[in-house]
Amino acid sequence: MENLSVLKKLLSTPQYIVITSHRNPDGDAIGSSLALYHYLIQHGHTVRVAFPSDYPGIFAWMPHSEKILIHDIEPEAVEEALDKSDLIFCLDYNGLDRIDKMGEYIGKLNTKKAMIDHHLFPDDFVDFMLSDTTASSTCELVYDFIKLMDAEDEINQTIGECMYTGIVTDTGSFKYATSAKLFKIVGSLLEKGVDDKKLQNLIHNCLEIKNLQLLGHCLHNRLEIWDEYKVGIITLTKKDYEKFDIQRGDTEGIVNYLLMLKDVHVAAFITEQPTIVKISLRSKGDISVQEMAKQHFRGGGHKNAAGGASYASLPATIKKFKKLIPQYKEKILDYNPANP
Ligand code: 5GP
Ligand code: MN
Repeated sequence: MENLSVLKKLLSTPQYIVITSHRNPDGDAIGSSLALYHYLIQHGHTVRVAFPSDYPGIFAWMPHSEKILIHDIEPEAVEEALDKSDLIFCLDYNGLDRIDKMGEYIGKLNTKKAMIDHHLFPDDFVDFMLSDTTASSTCELVYDFIKLMDAEDEINQTIGECMYTGIVTDTGSFKYATSAKLFKIVGSLLEKGVDDKKLQNLIHNCLEIKNLQLLGHCLHNRLEIWDEYKVGIITLTKKDYEKFDIQRGDTEGIVNYLLMLKDVHVAAFITEQPTIVKISLRSKGDISVQEMAKQHFRGGGHKNAAGGASYASLPATIKKFKKLIPQYKEKILDYNPANP
């Protein structure tokens, strides 16, 4: 990490710290934020966690989640905390445009900022940066950060369970972006008392029937395979959102099902939201959907998992996506599962 000794010195006395993460927080956003929260409070810091928008209810069991400030709900409370802060942590995002109005507010503050993140091409808006695009998750990097602070011994069961949550969700249960280093970290979290069976249950086996029905609908009625290009697409309309009473987080992971198909090398999940059309992209091997998302949908992310948005209608967005695929044909067809 750049300027680590300066940050260490700053954290050696109690500070007022705000931990922030991205819009539509996922398991890694909330897991990394709360892991860092539970580490920092052990050192006498005053710590607030603030997100631009609310998190899915499936994470409500996480200790301290009920105290997270949501900018969409109480902007004044978030801005008051930011005004008071000596240090702002930016976790699981690497550009202020990922946190909308909160980002505009943070951009105007002179407060010191520290980024911990694993997305490609970080913006240069912070004083301290721990950015590693090979990491599975920001939770893995929070582990590295605590190690850099010479405080590995302070990782307890609570911190570990927050970290495990982000690791298991960002890797799709240890399917993507894993490494020997990650498995060693997870092993050490289990040694610290993390109950992986309990967490797998809380995260993966607590669905409502409508979630499975939505999945069935997506796979049976809304899936299109474009065989010539090895592309799979699932789309959802506003009507689907009403019919299945789709709430925050309910569509998480659906796009990954497409990757289970031998003949899908690139997967897209395109959904009609109240004001935008959201696009989630996944790929196999050396195909970069980050590039696609950045160039065509004002987005970004990782090589194999990225997202963006479109301000056109749902049919126009689907058309735009289909039109740009031929230019990536060679790269997409080049993927070989035996040699990824
Ligand atoms: P998902 O498809 O699960 O929403 O996101 C996949 C990855 O792409 C995540 O790491 C997420 O942070 C990133 N991502 C999703 N949407 C956007 C976006 O609109 N802009 C940027 N820069 N990244 C995004
Ligand atoms: Mn992440």
